[in-house]
Amino acid sequence: MSEDSQMIRARRRFLAATGATIAASTVVPVLAGAAERKAPRLSRSRDTEFDVIVIGAGFAGLTAARDCAKRGMKVLALEARTRIGGRTFVSHYHDHQIELGGTWVHWAQPYVWTEINRYGLSLTETPGASPNLFAWRTDDRLKTADGQSAFAMLTEAMNKFCDVDGQLGRTVFPRAPNPLLNFHTVRKYDQITLNDRLKQINLRRDLSDLLAPQYTINVHRDPGTGSFVEQLHWWARGDFDVALLFDRCGHYKIAEGTTGLAQAIRNDGDFELKTGTPVKSVVQYNGKLTVGADQGAYTAGAVICAIPVNTLKNIRFEPGLGPVKLAASQAGVTGTGNKCYVHIKQKIGVWMGTAPHPYPITLAFTEQERDDGTLIVCFDAAGTLDVNDQAGVEAALRGLLPGAEVVSVISYPWTADPYSQGTWAFYRPGQLTRNWSGLREPEGNIYFASSDSAMLWRGFIDGAIESGVRTATEVFNNMSKRA
Ligand SMILES: Cc1cc2nc3c(=O)[nH]c(=O)nc-3n(C[C@H](O)[C@H](O)[C@H](O)COP(=O)(O)OP(=O)(O)OC[C@H]3O[C@@H](n4cnc5c(N)ncnc54)[C@H](O)[C@@H]3O)c2cc1C
Repeated sequence: MSEDSQMIRARRRFLAATGATIAASTVVPVLAGAAERKAPRLSRSRDTEFDVIVIGAGFAGLTAARDCAKRGMKVLALEARTRIGGRTFVSHYHDHQIELGGTWVHWAQPYVWTEINRYGLSLTETPGASPNLFAWRTDDRLKTADGQSAFAMLTEAMNKFCDVDGQLGRTVFPRAPNPLLNFHTVRKYDQITLNDRLKQINLRRDLSDLLAPQYTINVHRDPGTGSFVEQLHWWARGDFDVALLFDRCGHYKIAEGTTGLAQAIRNDGDFELKTGTPVKSVVQYNGKLTVGADQGAYTAGAVICAIPVNTLKNIRFEPGLGPVKLAASQAGVTGTGNKCYVHIKQKIGVWMGTAPHPYPITLAFTEQERDDGTLIVCFDAAGTLDVNDQAGVEAALRGLLPGAEVVSVISYPWTADPYSQGTWAFYRPGQLTRNWSGLREPEGNIYFASSDSAMLWRGFIDGAIESGVRTATEVFNNMSKRA
């Protein structure tokens, strides 16, 4: 059976389940390509009435909209920015494609890998993930080692850090996609910060300064604000191996760019998309929802709110947003640092440098070896690196790479942008055990999808897609039952 006839059948099944009818003219013939496919319209009386409205067209929203549409629902996606992709954003530096936001993916990330295969996309690599030369700041000095020796020392230190049970922490998350399975143990480690944990183990200063940047970058803020249990969850996603974890988080990129994947999902989804349309309000009355924007009001039987946790507080919900979601949004998840690309004149090979908090560059590594120098990707967890001050960036970089001469700096202000208000999700102490379940719960007919509350790769593109897939299924099942 062709994909189109499957889609028509799915739409008929959905209509039958919801008791709605389909006009004869809406049965589309089987078409050759996705580009020619037109949405068969349901018998909704007005253009502003939908089965489902999705707020936000990042990976969570795009996936949810596509999957709802494939199940026969009439879907509208409203996106505040004038582009899709959310916290992913492809740009170029001369001939080189750079990802200003979410970048690295891996085949151990099941949802994004499925989508990469579905649309026939391919991978490319960032060389600095496996550096030949490693430099790190300790005690206000710079130490260097070859990449293999540094990763061996790092392995020793990270094993000690995460080994809370004599089994490298395996008993905390025996099934990583179900993070609360071992609730009492998880709660114990959710009460302490990463700094608290470091104090519990006795590491030589140079080793603790080698270790700390690796988890500080995950928090993307002061490690004193991040829950130790989140690090244990990342650790479980890396199969309890620091080199594997790094490989899964910082090595492979989508050759066609994250935009290539976002566009493929959008093109495959038979839904209406309005960009440049920030949603201001969501009013729920008698089981019906009205979504308000300056451009107009739209109604639906269900809403999927696929915006970052940090921004939930900015939409007026009526009745008000539940207390758990509101509290989590007001506190915010931790990621608020910077990511920037720095072009230097020197050819430094495949290099990595790190420094403990609060040094303005936490982690940096070679993104591209160029004829005219090296392009380095830099992360600042402290949020103190002024990416508009080239001299300041050069001074910070020289602490890791003496003599570096900066040609240019490229970045995007994710934390200042009102539609993200931060970078990626890493939870504060207590947020996993107190907020995570509540963040995922529907409120009436409003459903919530976000990488920020995903089950497995929370804070990653994979988690966004996971949440979009799950929420679309939940909406379909519940709307079918309601009918
Ligand atoms: C600098 C940086 C580096 C990262 N690195 C990686 C990485 O290497 N690998 C990885 O997997 N992940 C990485 N991430 C994380 C990853 O990009 C995100 O977790 C993921 O893309 C989030 O997807 P999402 O759909 O949940 O949210 P978003 O992508 O934030 O999408 C939400 C959408 O909602 C829209 N929106 C917000 N408010 C409104 C409103 N009121 N009305 C309408 N629309 C609204 C936003 O404009 C946005 O398009 C990184 C993120 C950043 C910022």
